[in-house]
Amino acid sequence: MNILILGGGGREHSLAWAVKQNPKCDRLIVAPGNAGLTSIAECAAFDIEDPSAVVEFAVAQSIDFVIVGPEAPLAAGVADALRAADILTFGPSAAAARLEASKAFTKEICDAAGAPTAGYARFTDAAAATAYIEDQGAPIVIKADGLAAGKGVVVAMTEDEAITAVQDMLGGAFGEAGAEVVIEEFMDGEEASFFVLCDGTDVLPIGTAQDHKRAYDGDAGPNTGGMGAYSPAPVLTDASAARALSEIIQPCVDEMARRGTPYQGVLYAGLMIKDGQPRLVEYNVRFGDPECQVLMMRLGAQALDLMHACAEGRLAGRPVHWAEDHAITIVMATDGYPGSYEKGSAIRGLDELPEDSKAMTFHAGTALKDGQIVATGGRVLNVTARAETLSEARDKAYEMTRQIDWPEGFYRKDIGWRALGD
Ligand code: ATP
Repeated sequence: MNILILGGGGREHSLAWAVKQNPKCDRLIVAPGNAGLTSIAECAAFDIEDPSAVVEFAVAQSIDFVIVGPEAPLAAGVADALRAADILTFGPSAAAARLEASKAFTKEICDAAGAPTAGYARFTDAAAATAYIEDQGAPIVIKADGLAAGKGVVVAMTEDEAITAVQDMLGGAFGEAGAEVVIEEFMDGEEASFFVLCDGTDVLPIGTAQDHKRAYDGDAGPNTGGMGAYSPAPVLTDASAARALSEIIQPCVDEMARRGTPYQGVLYAGLMIKDGQPRLVEYNVRFGDPECQVLMMRLGAQALDLMHACAEGRLAGRPVHWAEDHAITIVMATDGYPGSYEKGSAIRGLDELPEDSKAMTFHAGTALKDGQIVATGGRVLNVTARAETLSEARDKAYEMTRQIDWPEGFYRKDIGWRALGD
């Protein structure tokens, strides 16, 4: 099978790493890819958010199967265009991708499906929103309706903070994405991510994870795209996961099908769990980054069979083969991230690191310059390990991280603290 993966981050490196291990993969192309991918795949450059450019490339290269990594191509209709050209594709249609692209739409689906989530109201008018905030009190959560690169959510501890957030969003701070705001009840509890594959009808759980959004140890500092993750997430016990499936995910998937916009691809449910009861925080229509890295490390080569069966609508009754173990990934980022940072610093020592089914350093923001790996992004490397226990996996990943010679980089030293209780 000739396979094309769209995207160029650590998520796509881990997807390519898993896919490449499967003997059904003959040729693998990643667009745009990164320096880490060059040893396992061909990297190609074209506009992955332009549906016709993607179709043209896929046809020219006789691609049999496309896996879409990030949300932007999905929201732009890339999966629709590929399917219209009869190319098997893993990823939802633009209509189904609204589960991530519009928070107001997701709330509507939850209401129709009876799925537990935070109470809410929607506003386009600042005066009405302010009156609602004064009535509800703080803490309260203000969200721009559309995609805002993870920055469109303010968990306000005071009414003043909430009102300022509403004024900023409706005042145009996020452009069209903030033309409407969703104001939500603050939910208390512990967050976890639940990943399922969905073929339009059937749902197959493929793992749980927890990430670490803040930049520094002790969950301090600014929000980031994620500084590390591990799988499984102990807070999602079998009982809570079963409730999340039967009360939240399956009813929402059924509602999407009922509306004529069936969901096909990976569905990532961000959950808040309190006393064993999960409630939906958000849906994402793609794998999380860095959660994908730990899921791929645990799934290995079967990830391709699962995604392929998903795209062909053959998930019913499919088993997932689990190694009963734990995976962890440590994100190494450039000093200054998530604020401004310098590009181009040299990274050494990667050649000596182990690379096997239980240890892998995925590249996120790297390039090759004069034969040297250099940092080109904020989040740069994902040092990932798997072991029988989370504590062994963590020790192994940190041991690998310490071997990397990159003075301009930093990483959190406490990834896994929630699950390890230290
Ligand atoms: P990202 O994709 O980066 O996770 P996002 O912009 O899609 O973020 P959400 O996931 O909806 O936004 O919210 C971001 C974070 O804000 C959540 O991970 C959670 O910690 C917090 N949050 C969101 N909604 C609530 C809520 N109702 N109660 C408490 N915390 C919330």
